[in-house]
Amino acid sequence: MFKNAIQIGKLWGIPLRLHYSFLIILPFLAWAFGNNIRVLSEMAGIPLTSLGANPYFLGFLMAIALFTSVALHELSHSLVARKKGVHIHAINLMLFGGVAQMDEIPEDPKDEAMIAFAGPLLSLVLGGVLIGGASLFRGIIVPDLQLLLLYLGWMNLFLAVFNLIPAFPTDGGRVLRAFLAGRMSFLQATKVAATIGKAFAFAFGIMGLLTANFILVFIAFFIYIGASQEYQTIFIKNTLEGFSVADLMTEDVRVVDEDTLVSELVDKMFVERHSGYPVMRDGEVRGCVTMGDVRKVEPELHSQTRVRDIMSSEIFKVNPEEDIYKALRMISQEDVGRLMVMRGDELVGIITRSDIMKGFRLREMQGRV
Ligand SMILES: [Zn+2]
Repeated sequence: MFKNAIQIGKLWGIPLRLHYSFLIILPFLAWAFGNNIRVLSEMAGIPLTSLGANPYFLGFLMAIALFTSVALHELSHSLVARKKGVHIHAINLMLFGGVAQMDEIPEDPKDEAMIAFAGPLLSLVLGGVLIGGASLFRGIIVPDLQLLLLYLGWMNLFLAVFNLIPAFPTDGGRVLRAFLAGRMSFLQATKVAATIGKAFAFAFGIMGLLTANFILVFIAFFIYIGASQEYQTIFIKNTLEGFSVADLMTEDVRVVDEDTLVSELVDKMFVERHSGYPVMRDGEVRGCVTMGDVRKVEPELHSQTRVRDIMSSEIFKVNPEEDIYKALRMISQEDVGRLMVMRGDELVGIITRSDIMKGFRLREMQGRV
């Protein structure tokens, strides 16, 4: 989801990235605002004839300003999260707003509530300041700028209010979960918050369909998916709690030498029924080779190509003592089939999704699922 993005800069050391979907929506928004400039100026009480700039240019500025507001909202979450010791990978701006990509949110309800509240709070303050400023400088600044400030102020107020609706996983939903988590287990709190989130999603969806407001339908869809996913994540994490990588990894690691011919590798894969292997040179891990790498080579060339020519030298590794959930997250985030379990430079095991599934079955047998 975040791979198709370009980095445009850094704010307080946090990379700010634009998803391609954003580049599509920006001209559309500029056009939509430009087309509706009459309505906007009427709402703001500014005569249309007093505006000097081209409506589409104003629309373009509004679109940029809107996304700047979203970025600031996410930045506010991010800075508070960082203060609470959460690592922020990047802020991503895309079609329907922004996402601060952070490591797990702390399970301390107070921290989560503060991080969640920081975004709407900033939008609220910003909205107030902009609207106040626009009224204060009425007659002093050019009408175009006044319209821009007013509009931006409303948008920020809207951002604040909309995000505070307790439709988990919105900010308000997170505050709700944090509140509930003080009274029940984190898993239960997430379940209740997610159920409420889904109920909102249904309501938004029906409202959107009845009024032919398809943006609302989309938002409903995202809330529903988000609530389901977040609950699932917490459920998985809760179930796997207590397992380390060493508990579930495969210790009997099959490896290949980098000089192995691809044809030999294919035979080995067929016999051993493994789809990926660590690649070794002089007893050291050099990379990883998978079925996907083999497919890139024409079958006629299998007997002339060596593993080192097709392997990927990027090694995704994990410590045996690491929490199993961390390993699972790394597998998903990096979208790899397996992680090498390494103690220093020594390969001590391999962990795959199916190894992690063993953990679920074990918990099931213990009656803990
Ligand atoms: Zn937010």
